[in-house]
Amino acid sequence: MNKPESIDWVRQAALLKPRTRCFIEGRFLDAASGETFACVSPIDGRVLAQVARGGARDIDRAVASARAAFEDGRWSRLPPAQRKCVLQAFAASILAHGDELALTETLDMGKPVRFSLAVDVAATARCINWYGEAIDKVYDEIAPTAPSALALIRREPTGVVGAIVPWNYPMIMAAWKLGPALAAGNSVVLKPSEKSPLSALRIAELAVEAGIPPGVLNVVPGYGEEAGEALALHMDVDVIGFTGSTRVGRRMLEYASRSNLKRIYNELGGKSAFVVFPDFDDLDRAAKTAAGCMFFNQGESCNAPSRLVVHEAIAEEFVQRLVAEAPAFAPADPLDVNTVMGALVDDGQMKTVMRYIDVGSREGARCAAGGRRARPDSGGYYVEPTVFDGVRTDMTIAREEIFGPVLSVIRFRDEAEAIAIANGTTYGLQASVWSSNIDRAHRVARSLRAGTVHVNEYDEDDITVPFGGYKQSGNGRDKSLHALEKYTELKTTWIRLQM
Ligand code: NAD
Repeated sequence: MNKPESIDWVRQAALLKPRTRCFIEGRFLDAASGETFACVSPIDGRVLAQVARGGARDIDRAVASARAAFEDGRWSRLPPAQRKCVLQAFAASILAHGDELALTETLDMGKPVRFSLAVDVAATARCINWYGEAIDKVYDEIAPTAPSALALIRREPTGVVGAIVPWNYPMIMAAWKLGPALAAGNSVVLKPSEKSPLSALRIAELAVEAGIPPGVLNVVPGYGEEAGEALALHMDVDVIGFTGSTRVGRRMLEYASRSNLKRIYNELGGKSAFVVFPDFDDLDRAAKTAAGCMFFNQGESCNAPSRLVVHEAIAEEFVQRLVAEAPAFAPADPLDVNTVMGALVDDGQMKTVMRYIDVGSREGARCAAGGRRARPDSGGYYVEPTVFDGVRTDMTIAREEIFGPVLSVIRFRDEAEAIAIANGTTYGLQASVWSSNIDRAHRVARSLRAGTVHVNEYDEDDITVPFGGYKQSGNGRDKSLHALEKYTELKTTWIRLQM
């Protein structure tokens, strides 16, 4: 990959020709209805492209294509070592097209291009490569039965996977489904968010060029209530890998019960706690980490540490440090390589965030930094990094996922109260504890009900560890070998042996 500063991104943006049509059976097709929707760039509010508005008929075509590919074994019955080679070529192609994909992502959803390149493209390629590499090293089992039987426990691909993903990390969220699903031998129909449909279409094209047989990976762009609903209700889809809001995750379970009881794996929202004890010996690092993780990706991260739970003895000092960090995240042009905070995904998301800021003030929290729309003259959708102090646990901004650059500081008096506040949420995606007392750090980490708990760290992980939530943050796990469990069936073959 090139260095971001070596590229004239504005010039490249003018030359970009995004793919805009449904990708089915290895070919780009218009939506059956012939309809399109406008894909708007949040950088400046400009229409980037008209994209095929996929609907139920397109989903039918894509699922039929995926099913045929699965049944004839063009991918599902390849030796794992062959699937490995193709997935590795696919990952290499993603890296080779990294500049184009990064630019597409930035124009489509507003994140700084340096992060699209260094984080999104890199993590997408790494994920595909990792599952490719892994799949010919995964062994099945033989059960410890009596000698008169041989019981084989095999993992088989589930069949047709529907992947429905959000807009905040469009490529990475898609890769977290595609990596394990394709490695295990499934066929996939991917429905990207209508707010960020472009990178998925290009990636699918690269997959086929890299050797994934046509029909194995299909992409249908379109609205959630149209293409998404049709996919989740489809009688010939075996499993849905969903990432998105808890509200829509609930709908996924309804769709399954109204159709074929397909398996639903939900990766949903969060309201993660960042708990700082006064015995932690490097408050500067803690504050920098909190601000960096909260404002990264414009605060549009499911695992953003949006509740800063800090001991009252150090709260004043800690808030001052957070406020001092905020200007470094001032929103700027996402195509400028020095920018660290870009645009929110669309006008609607910006208005939602501004409404929460207003509610925070009206309910009595003190806005210590930010709180305003930024760069209105750009035509795009930017909000200042915002810190609220004096937040109480019953306030709306302490309870609801905002999905924007808004941090709530909540004070506690003792360890028990800190744990109660951290766990006092319907979500359970991530949490962290900051303490230099090893007993306390372990004690609190054990008590926190979240899929990932960091100690003296936040948001550090890699593809080797599972990612997902407790409670209403979802079920199942993306990443690591555990993700293979979502896209495989366990089959027992019991063989009687003549003794
Ligand atoms: P969303 O739930 O609105 O949409 C997610 C996807 O579902 C999109 O593709 C959308 O088109 C589709 N969809 C919407 N309504 C649908 C319906 N009725 N039927 C079928 N499909 C439908 O979420 P979003 O706004 O795109 O993403 C933000 C949310 O995603 C946040 O809550 C965030 O926390 C969550 N998220 C979670 C994780 C995780 O791993 N847990 C990762 C990233 C984002």
